[in-house]
Amino acid sequence: MQIPFLDLKAQYRTIQDEIDRKIGEVVVSQRFILGEEVEQLENELAAYSGAKHGVGVSSGSDALIISLMAVGVGEGDYVVTTPFTFFATAGAVARLRAVPLFCDIEPDGFNLDPKKLEELLARKITGRNNSRIKAIIPVHLYGQLCDMDAINAQAERFDLFVLEDAAQAVGSEYPGAQGVRRACTLGNAGTLSFFPSKNLGGFGDGGMVLTDDTELAEKLRILRVHGSQSKYMYQTLGGNFRLDALQAAILRVKLKHLDDWHRGRQRIADGYRQRFEDNGLLATGAVQPPIEMYRERGVAHYHTYHQYVLRVRDRDKLQLHLRDNGVPTAVYYPLGLHLQECFSYLGYKLGDFPETEKACGEVLALPVFPELTEAQQDQIAEAVKAFYSS
Ligand SMILES: *Cc1c(COP(=O)(O)O)cnc(C)c1O
Repeated sequence: MQIPFLDLKAQYRTIQDEIDRKIGEVVVSQRFILGEEVEQLENELAAYSGAKHGVGVSSGSDALIISLMAVGVGEGDYVVTTPFTFFATAGAVARLRAVPLFCDIEPDGFNLDPKKLEELLARKITGRNNSRIKAIIPVHLYGQLCDMDAINAQAERFDLFVLEDAAQAVGSEYPGAQGVRRACTLGNAGTLSFFPSKNLGGFGDGGMVLTDDTELAEKLRILRVHGSQSKYMYQTLGGNFRLDALQAAILRVKLKHLDDWHRGRQRIADGYRQRFEDNGLLATGAVQPPIEMYRERGVAHYHTYHQYVLRVRDRDKLQLHLRDNGVPTAVYYPLGLHLQECFSYLGYKLGDFPETEKACGEVLALPVFPELTEAQQDQIAEAVKAFYSS
């Protein structure tokens, strides 16, 4: 039987009445841009995450761009980030004519390595260009937070702005020096994406910036409407970064279910691990399940499994085998950003980020969504087992 990689129709069926009613209300109001629904969503998501302010914007990519604009990142500035992320993270930096300065990931997990960050900053900051490193963008990949205490310690030493890319980690938690805190409240600001396939996905594009910094939030609100503080008066150059009322209305309905969905994803992840343990694949090392860094530390959202990503032996052959057996998979990501053609001008080469390059060859994402059935998980685990037994 063919299994879907993600079944958004199944999710919609569970909340259809509520969603359709909300859409109807917005349509009747004929108020489609920003407005009441967007403000409510901003307040609710800020409260959910534990941040003071939320600023709804047009996408997760735009949330990154507008945040960097607000802190004055521009031509010739450097922004440190990981090469093992979705393109938009570094794309946002480059769009502003700033320079992405890549730093490799941890050997076990998939997030920015604080030790390598320390080395990179020590090397760069003693150089001539030190003042041009403005910010760090840690990316909470697949739904598990970076080691933010260690990253913040480096940022403080060198006075860098910390912008969390939490597009894959809405609601994920980190047990650190400030207690258990959620994504987007650990640095200076954080960004979310409401792309339909994200854990909190709209019916189109959307995003948000969360921050405790009142002045920054104010700047973001101005930049979101072309830099206009009062109607048809422009003090700064912004853009159209607005969020739609329809998206906000839909997302407000979905937000009420988000914690249930997170639990559902965690249950699926546990189900995979159990099956791979039972069928002996963990013992052989053919399959390495995701490492849960914060699970044993009393954290409910230790991982929100935006993606369930294995490291596997013979990845490409396994992927074909699974495809032929009705199991769709995905590779996030097949090529480090340092090796992307559009970034060739940055001068990186193969070998620069060994952990990223290794991960690119090993990672395989299995279907993970709350509506995935036990029978489907059985089929997936059996198909993986069959590949390594033949
Ligand atoms: C999805 C994603 C983005 C971009 O979000 P969009 O809403 O698609 O623009 C940025 N960073 C990461 C890590 C993402 O996964």
